Amino acid sequence: MPTSPAELLSAAYNDADRTIDLRRRLHRHPEIGLHLPRTQAAVLEAFAELPLEVTTGTTTSSVVGVLRGARPGPTYLLRGDMDALPVQEDTGLPFASEVPGAMHACGHDTHVAMLVGAARLLADRRDELAGQVVFMVQPGEEGFHGARYMLEEGLLDVVPEAPVSGAFALHISSTLPSGTVNVRPGPMMAAADQWRMTVRGRGGHASEPHAAADPIPVAAEIVLALQAMVTRQVDVFDPAVVTVAHIEAGSTNNVIPDTAFLEGTIRTLSPERRAAVVAAVQRVATHVAAAHEMTATFEHDPGYPVTVNDVEVAARVLETARTMLGDPAAVLSRAPLMGAEDFSYVLEKVPGAIAWLGACPPGTDPADAPPNHSNLVVFDEEPLPAGVALYAQMALDALRG
Ligand SMILES: [Zn+2]
Repeated sequence: MPTSPAELLSAAYNDADRTIDLRRRLHRHPEIGLHLPRTQAAVLEAFAELPLEVTTGTTTSSVVGVLRGARPGPTYLLRGDMDALPVQEDTGLPFASEVPGAMHACGHDTHVAMLVGAARLLADRRDELAGQVVFMVQPGEEGFHGARYMLEEGLLDVVPEAPVSGAFALHISSTLPSGTVNVRPGPMMAAADQWRMTVRGRGGHASEPHAAADPIPVAAEIVLALQAMVTRQVDVFDPAVVTVAHIEAGSTNNVIPDTAFLEGTIRTLSPERRAAVVAAVQRVATHVAAAHEMTATFEHDPGYPVTVNDVEVAARVLETARTMLGDPAAVLSRAPLMGAEDFSYVLEKVPGAIAWLGACPPGTDPADAPPNHSNLVVFDEEPLPAGVALYAQMALDALRG
């Protein structure tokens, strides 16, 4: 008899102590970036107990586990990221970070623990699987392009006879009601691009601006022109955010500086909008500067692409959450988030979805909860087994045979 969603959920709850224990061990020892030896060792130790074929990254601390089902079939990928943030933890939790200046403030410790829990559930049910499950445990989600390195190392072809054909990931959130699964078809998170510009004028005496070329008013004009560009040139149904987040010029009250420096971010939800807005930011800057007989240099750092959920997979996530956790737990997200996620690289290659697992702590209003990335963020551990079961169910359904 195939395992029912209810049975899978209760198996995950029966295993909750191990899931929470691993989560807390990881939480005490957060590591940042692409090289996470201690975290990788914990994952390898957990995987060693399971019938998985395990490989590790050659350029990063990534771990890939392959579980072969009883019968041949396609390959389905489940992702958990494992890196922390350069944040000093101030939660006062008994298992708070013991590493100064590092904290699992985005809950990636919970992702690893849930993925390992799902691996245990699925290993116990190999006879129900027609195909392979790939467990993608990635470093460097927080801006280090960890997923891209794994793709470059052949992640999707780890089972050569059956390349990965579908993928699923969960991300925990402290500001969504605990136990809810939140997902939407189409864009789920934004593309994030960084830019820097320098307006070049000519320094001089602050009392004689006509004898100098003052870059400060030009920089100010660029800031305002960018806002007008966004509201006048961007379709509200294919939106963009342009934020000037850092501006610097001058040194004292009576000197006109040579240059003014500005930097910021561009967030978009489609490749077309992304390209158009990057070009527009450059155009506005160089032409406003030119109008004042100055120049503006523009540097663009492409970040993660748009994270796009497959329509059918997103519907299946909602349906699975409804069946397993009840109607109120399945939430169609109202809108994408303008944050970015490097699971986008995987979803560019194969249809799949990422969903938010709500974990607002009990007794806290989600609207007031310190958000992901805060030094005070706390995640409710109660829904972790639901996340474990959801991961496992997505793979079971994909590999029914
Ligand atoms: Zn995150």
